[in-house]
Amino acid sequence: MNKVKTTSEKSLASNSRIVVLLTQLEKINSESLLVEADTARYVTSKILHLAQSQEKTRKEMTAKGSTGVEVILSTLENTRDLQTTLNILSILIELVSVGGGRRACILVSKGGTQILLQLLLGASKDSPPNEELMVQLHSLLAKIGPKDKKFGVKARINGALNISLNLVKQNLQNHRLILPCLQVLRVYSTNSVNAVSLGKNGVVELMFKIIGPFSKKNTGLMKVALDTLAALLKSKTNARRAVDRGYVQVLLTIYVDWHRHDSRHRHMLIRKGILQCIKSVTNIKLGRKAFIDANGMKILYNTSQDCLAVRTLDPLVNTSSLIMRKCFPKNRLPLPTIKSAFHFQLPVIPTSGPVAQLYSLPPEVDDVVDESDDNDDIETETETENENEDDKDQHFKNDDIETDIDKLKPKQELGRPIEELKIYEQFFPELAENFQEYDLVSKEPKPFASATNLGGPIVVPTAGEEHPAEANQSVKGIAVKDHSSLQMEEYNKRPSFLDLPKKDHNKDSLQLQNDQKKLLSSCQCLSQEIVKGLDRITLQNTSKSEQYYSTGCLIKKESKTSLTTPACNKPCQHVSSCGSGLFEGPSVQLGKLCCTGVDPDEEEDSSSHSSGEQVLLEVPDMLPLHNPDLYIEIVKNTKSVPEYSEVAYPDYFGHIPPPFKEPILERPYGVQRTKIAQDIERLIHQNDIVDRVIYDLDNSSCSVPEEGDILKFNSKFESGNLRKVIQIRKNEYDLILNSDINSNHYHQWFYFEVSGMKTGIGYRFNIINCEKSNSQFNYGMQPLMYSVQEALNARPWWGRVGTDICYYKNHFSRSSIAAGGQKGKSYYTITFTVSFPHKDDVCYFAYHYPYTYSTLKMHLQKLESMHNPQQIYFREDVLCETLAGNSCPLVTITAMPESNYYEHVCQFRNRPYVFLSARVHPGETNASWVMKGTLEYLMSSSPAAQSLRESYIFKIVPMLNPDGVINGNHRCSLSGEDLNRQWQNPNLDLHPTIYHAKGLLQYMATIKRLPLVFCDYHGHSRKKNVFMYGCSIKETMWHTDVSAASCDVIEDLGYRALPKILSQTAPAFCMSSCSFVVEKSKESTARVVVWREIGVQRSYTMESTLCGCDQGKYKGLQIGTRELEEMGAKFCVGLLRLKRLTSPLEHNLPSSLLDIENELIESSCKVTSPTTYVLDEDEPRFLEEVDYSAESNDEQDVELADNAGDYEPSIQEDALSDSEATRTHLP
Ligand SMILES: [Zn+2]
Repeated sequence: MNKVKTTSEKSLASNSRIVVLLTQLEKINSESLLVEADTARYVTSKILHLAQSQEKTRKEMTAKGSTGVEVILSTLENTRDLQTTLNILSILIELVSVGGGRRACILVSKGGTQILLQLLLGASKDSPPNEELMVQLHSLLAKIGPKDKKFGVKARINGALNISLNLVKQNLQNHRLILPCLQVLRVYSTNSVNAVSLGKNGVVELMFKIIGPFSKKNTGLMKVALDTLAALLKSKTNARRAVDRGYVQVLLTIYVDWHRHDSRHRHMLIRKGILQCIKSVTNIKLGRKAFIDANGMKILYNTSQDCLAVRTLDPLVNTSSLIMRKCFPKNRLPLPTIKSAFHFQLPVIPTSGPVAQLYSLPPEVDDVVDESDDNDDIETETETENENEDDKDQHFKNDDIETDIDKLKPKQELGRPIEELKIYEQFFPELAENFQEYDLVSKEPKPFASATNLGGPIVVPTAGEEHPAEANQSVKGIAVKDHSSLQMEEYNKRPSFLDLPKKDHNKDSLQLQNDQKKLLSSCQCLSQEIVKGLDRITLQNTSKSEQYYSTGCLIKKESKTSLTTPACNKPCQHVSSCGSGLFEGPSVQLGKLCCTGVDPDEEEDSSSHSSGEQVLLEVPDMLPLHNPDLYIEIVKNTKSVPEYSEVAYPDYFGHIPPPFKEPILERPYGVQRTKIAQDIERLIHQNDIVDRVIYDLDNSSCSVPEEGDILKFNSKFESGNLRKVIQIRKNEYDLILNSDINSNHYHQWFYFEVSGMKTGIGYRFNIINCEKSNSQFNYGMQPLMYSVQEALNARPWWGRVGTDICYYKNHFSRSSIAAGGQKGKSYYTITFTVSFPHKDDVCYFAYHYPYTYSTLKMHLQKLESMHNPQQIYFREDVLCETLAGNSCPLVTITAMPESNYYEHVCQFRNRPYVFLSARVHPGETNASWVMKGTLEYLMSSSPAAQSLRESYIFKIVPMLNPDGVINGNHRCSLSGEDLNRQWQNPNLDLHPTIYHAKGLLQYMATIKRLPLVFCDYHGHSRKKNVFMYGCSIKETMWHTDVSAASCDVIEDLGYRALPKILSQTAPAFCMSSCSFVVEKSKESTARVVVWREIGVQRSYTMESTLCGCDQGKYKGLQIGTRELEEMGAKFCVGLLRLKRLTSPLEHNLPSSLLDIENELIESSCKVTSPTTYVLDEDEPRFLEEVDYSAESNDEQDVELADNAGDYEPSIQEDALSDSEATRTHLP
């Protein structure tokens, strides 16, 4: 409330004319009115004159502290004199006509609405009512109504609805009168109860009388009538009424009339108004049906096409597009079932939850789509509808935040009996090792010693001997670089972000490659062999495989035809010399290759491909952890549910980061509507659609048509997940991804191979069963492509490719049965267009840089074989076996003790632990690249790394979900569940990796060796940068109603130190995206359980973007493996700094690191949108304004908001939403 000054006080200060007049009027009010009618008339007319002519007067009357408005309103309430009333109404209209709604708000706050409505009621009793009075009253009500949240209710209670309505009915020809009445009706109608009530009294029919038939007279009136109608039709009752009376057809006819006659586009707003009405009415199923029956799709499609050329008509195109998408008949996915195409029988079926549901589904049920899905028309509207629904949004609160303090406080009991935890002792031999058998006098790295005197579990490769795991290769006579100092040196040269001799990758990688070529000649020989010798390497069953080896060649040309369709039909020359013994046991099939090398300049000329001589395969020298032969060996032991027998080329060959920057793509204008228009054409021009299945996991007899210009698809390799491909148009393909095994959804990750392409053609790919409601593909992220020809031409990298990228809700949906009883959900399409660099190439596409389980195994083996055992204590144990029988590696890394003296061994054993894990979510391959960076750093020979090893013992589970990764899942393990929701109660049989990872931590708690830091690496698909989520009771309570003061928990702020350090050292890391709030939905994630149950204070999730950065050194760039690996290394550097900060000597953390108040203020200022109601728990709804969904209701109607104002949040509301703001946080 403003401080009230009396007018007399005020007059002393300013003594202006208006103040004198207002004082007079105040005086009149307090005296007998009848006597003073003339005076009041006179004074008000003077005030009116001033208000009309001087902005100064208007300002003064509505200034803070002025009682001008009160005096005026009080006069209005009391006067019986018509002229005085009219004068005052005019004054008020003058006051509110400028000032951006603020003055209207003042009027509302002084009780103006009620006074005006009472006046309206009184005036309506005259017969006929005074026209001038009605015009003025309605004009004023139309202006202040939108500023009064209770306007609709007040109007109804005062009986004003029908007064205005009847005025319009009885004065249809009197445009001057009905214009303001219609404006007021529009405001009434934004209240849904009013809309229903008015509808009963014939308002819908009345509006149609005004808007039709087509006429250019009174366009102003028409515009208002359309806006009113659009508001009215948002009520389902009114929409149904309109459909019943055939008004959908009428609206379309009027729209076409305007489209034809408004050739100069002067009446865009009227045309938009008509579309808004259609949009409202098609919110109901009957409306959509009427729209389709009236040929609405074709009409709106054709009119939109006409409008495309004129930029100012964009609102029409966009609204039309929205309506068409909504009305597009929902289709089923062209699949027999949306359950995964692969079956894996679980050892136990959970008793409840989605998997139980899936298993209990009768087999004959069509889970793709069902009729019940579209029943959105069940009448829910009643007269008793919540009057205060406007208020709902204002008091938004993130109800996912844990407010139960007991659920935030540390849990005391251990969960498993100590005897049971004993089994984990075996994973901690370092705590018992006394190193008496080791020759460890000096800390200095020594030349590699002979292995003979080494005992214990530590496997130590030496210069003279191959490590057993790699011995397989060496006997083949294939000169894989031997594991000598050469490799160590090479290893130590990179990567550039380590504190090691610098090489600029960007500039030098190619040069380096060339330098290394000579070193790699034998390896090249092998690789050439493979490239030339086969279209595909397959893991064959033994009987088949024999014929492969008999020739001593990798694969016999003759046999291949029966297996796969070759990418090119030219005869291949086989060179069989080295490498013949490579594939002992089952053979492995490499992604099909064209049998020739290609000169990029000659790619158009296919005749130049006949010779294989130019093939030059260079193993990227930047990849010391990569070895194709080793990879193949490992793949043979990797168990996949579909029993994959092929190997994707990029995984086999490896890849380096491209030597150039990849900026975040700018979204081209109108790409979404163009794509949608093309989708709509499928319906309108059905004959143009090819609709040919060319790849189908569900139908093994599906054969690729042998036509030259059809792309060939494949993803039958580790982490691949393509289920079906349908050719839609000549160069356009719909792709369907396989569901996670034992589930019927969760697809977003993709990885597949394409061949048979031509150059100079833009191929459009649509992945049509994506699930997330938004994606970074709408904000500059591109998919990744790897070209084998490019790799052969010394450019072996995954590159961001694709144009016309767009992610949007499509017309496919899944049934409520499949969605577990929820209403059928729509799918989303990610579409992109690619022009291939080479003809007859083999290319791979992926959601993000693939990182297979076999890759991890290879990296670990290489790390082990390359490390200096004098310096580094390295162990790789098998934590457990997965459901499919793959081993889950557990890595231990620390420094060897300085010597085997007692003090040194004690120092060794007493180092604090750091526990790291990654890749619980298979689709988050970026997490693995970060983990690779961490592992490489930990194993590097830099002094900082050594110092880090001397500070901590690292326990690392680099891949918590091997089965999910292998089988191309996006989210789940083979149990069909999100493993990161199982930490509270992991099941030994269903979630072995989580059960045992938790067991390790519980064991550590029992022996009082809790890790200083726990961090689980993840990827984030809807945010940029890298950031962390941690846990804090206080910060959680601050986000709730419970005031921080009432939360008497004493909390160490140390959990903020590591993220803060990272924000200062890691370029991709962003502090303001971090959060330390504990959500209910996350109570069973690793982060929260390790924090609360195990008691690790610094328990984190580290989230890396899939897209790129919008701050720091990489601002504006898409992220690559180099940056991700760097992040992993910087994480280690951060741990080193944390060590220094937390060492006993420096008990107090520097305050700069913990300026928590400031940071909270900073971050809460940035966040303005609540995100609780996000479908996917992991991803906050993206805040950028892109219309990605086909829902009409969630779209802000800007025009109405501008005119009516009631959708605009007031200043107060803004303030409120700020303080209430929360983010969704995830593990
Ligand atoms: Zn994740």
